Amino acid sequence: MSNVTVCVRFRPLSPRERNAHGEAICITSLDEKSFSFKDDKEEKSMFCFDRVFYPGSSQSEVYEFIAMPIIQDIMNATNGTIFTYGQTGAGKTYSMEGPNFPDSQEKGLLPRVVDGLFESLRSSDEVHCTVKLSMVEIYMEKIRDLLDLAKDNLQILESKVQGIYLSEVTEIAVMDPADALKCLSRGISNRAVGETQMNMASSRSHCIYIFIVQQKSTKDGMVKTGKLMLVDLAGSEKVEKTNAQGKVLEEAKSINKSLSSLGKVINALTTGRMNHIPYRDSKLTRILQDGLGGNSRTALLCCCSPSSTDASESLSTLRFGTRTKYLKTPLRVNMNEDKSKSDQVIQHGVGSESCERIL
Ligand code: ADP
Ligand code: MG
Repeated sequence: MSNVTVCVRFRPLSPRERNAHGEAICITSLDEKSFSFKDDKEEKSMFCFDRVFYPGSSQSEVYEFIAMPIIQDIMNATNGTIFTYGQTGAGKTYSMEGPNFPDSQEKGLLPRVVDGLFESLRSSDEVHCTVKLSMVEIYMEKIRDLLDLAKDNLQILESKVQGIYLSEVTEIAVMDPADALKCLSRGISNRAVGETQMNMASSRSHCIYIFIVQQKSTKDGMVKTGKLMLVDLAGSEKVEKTNAQGKVLEEAKSINKSLSSLGKVINALTTGRMNHIPYRDSKLTRILQDGLGGNSRTALLCCCSPSSTDASESLSTLRFGTRTKYLKTPLRVNMNEDKSKSDQVIQHGVGSESCERIL
């Protein structure tokens, strides 16, 4: 089984979209892995992923498919990383934190992961466990500690023992789920304070939640360590190059660079081109280095708006998802229904049914 899972989630239409454009949506569900997509030129394509979460899907379905297997790995002392990717407003933070974190019926991945981790730890009674939490934000290639705003330029270091780590980052040992949620809530409100201070929108930075789980055997003293990183990425929307200037243009360039290096790293890992994995191309990929590749499992949740008015951004999110995971081999095929399109290129996933196909 592949160590990289790529899923797509479509949020429901918002009341504003409904009022302005009725029920105009760009997707037709085919099954739990594939859908047909109509772009802004009314061209249809079919996309397949490891799993598609449609507008009616619940937070618990997303958690069970994406995070539960990764929590199991963390218990077995490997690493894991979960990303939410997509344009601003597509549902990244809803999926990661859930609305009104942490008190909500619709808890996102983060509070569910906290519960899941502690539940798994409770079931192993031959070990002494510790969970340490850190929370950082990357904005314009600078790393800020969200648990201590005075640390606003953390450095990434590497050692044989610790692997990749952030020098002087705040690590808080949390005893139970309530303790962990309190700590995460503090980081989330600090993020908002920092944004106001810097006059910056949260959609322009990447937020990383880091859990380090250690299990020390009470029998032989052996220590097993697993690192889990949850990453709410900056909005992937294109910024109009012609209009953007100054800070907006610099932000856009920085986000673009880090998202494209993330895509290249995941692609290198999934296609087996392991001789040069460009971790050092951005702070984002460098921090995540030991959570991507090696003995770790990665899940990418591509969040999309279902509205036809967002079709062009959704298409670029879907293409990021396909590109990061699958090597595409162009094939010429004959299709029966429409002779005029019979020569179009099909893009197949290799070693998997996942693909984008022009219909
Ligand atoms: P992003 O973090 O990608 O910018 P948000 O997560 O803030 O986007 O989502 C934008 C809006 O859409 C929010 O009001 C959020 O509550 C709503 N939303 C997103 N995804 C869903 C969903 N799956 N179900 C219900 N509402 C959602
Ligand atoms: Mg967000």
